[in-house]
Amino acid sequence: MNADKYLRSIPKVELHNHVTGAVRLQTVVEIARKNSIPLPAGDPGALYEYVDLIGFLTSHSFVCSALRDRDDFSRIAYESLEDGYQNSNVRYMEMFFNPTNHMADGVAYTEVVDGLVDGIRRAEAEFGVQGRLIPSINRQQSIAVAREMLDAIVAHRRDEVIGIGMDHDELPDPPEKFATVYQAAGRAGLKRTAHTSHDGPASHILTCLDELGCDRIDHGYRVTRDAQVLQRVVDEQIPFTCALTSAQMFWPWAAIDETPDGAVNPVKTMFDAGVNVTVHTDDPTMLHTDLGSEYIKYFRDCVLDIDSTHAAGLSALDAAWLDESDKSVLRKEFRAEMTRLGSELNAM
Ligand SMILES: [Zn+2]
Repeated sequence: MNADKYLRSIPKVELHNHVTGAVRLQTVVEIARKNSIPLPAGDPGALYEYVDLIGFLTSHSFVCSALRDRDDFSRIAYESLEDGYQNSNVRYMEMFFNPTNHMADGVAYTEVVDGLVDGIRRAEAEFGVQGRLIPSINRQQSIAVAREMLDAIVAHRRDEVIGIGMDHDELPDPPEKFATVYQAAGRAGLKRTAHTSHDGPASHILTCLDELGCDRIDHGYRVTRDAQVLQRVVDEQIPFTCALTSAQMFWPWAAIDETPDGAVNPVKTMFDAGVNVTVHTDDPTMLHTDLGSEYIKYFRDCVLDIDSTHAAGLSALDAAWLDESDKSVLRKEFRAEMTRLGSELNAM
């Protein structure tokens, strides 16, 4: 077994995966037709081709708007887990979704969440892969809309919904905008994370940790530009959920100033600085990647050794929002399987 096959085969945890960025292209086309949502003009295959973040977000908005009923959400959650399990041996996945994007289309929170839960439970029954959900604030929307989302989460508690997140364009709407909503989520027993410091300054990370109560950070590539923030997150080993492909595509200059030699992947700069990096897909189908490919990219572009790649995988498991007892079961399984696969790797 070669290193690529080994890295694809080892068991994995995914913590940064947007379920609407993980929809198979064929599924989007079929669901849009079923719901009579007109597809963009031209070849439907071009829906997942873009040259910049704006193009990506336009396609992502289309995917969100195509989803209308419980069966649609069930299908995308199930297929996302099936894909993760089959192509990368994902055993546990936390999936972001933006309830208010769908609520704006007239789809009730319960329709969305119950559909996703149906898909998660079916995938667990069939493949043994576990899924959890992180409703995420679209930061371009108002505080009142975010509060409405939190009210819906609390009024319709589901075991699979374990925390909240925040995403979309960072610069116009910094994290402190939603501090009160995050604090209320904390009082309601929800875990917290946030997409931050990919476009905005590293100081946003401190806001997320200290005011919003986050225990991990999504992206955060600009952390290496601020020595004090960097020192703190290294000292405390705050987990960062990074994604190699999306970092390179959308934030190549996040970690360092532009140089004539070209950008280094910001995740490498973080790893070299001692940050607790974990590796994820962000939007796998829309970015034409999967978790196995992200591990291989991390190995080749950032760390260059198998042990450091393992370390990122086990850090992701440590950072998962599962009970400690569930994590320790998975940890044991992961280590046994890594040892077994490792003997095949060493036998080469
Ligand atoms: Zn993301």
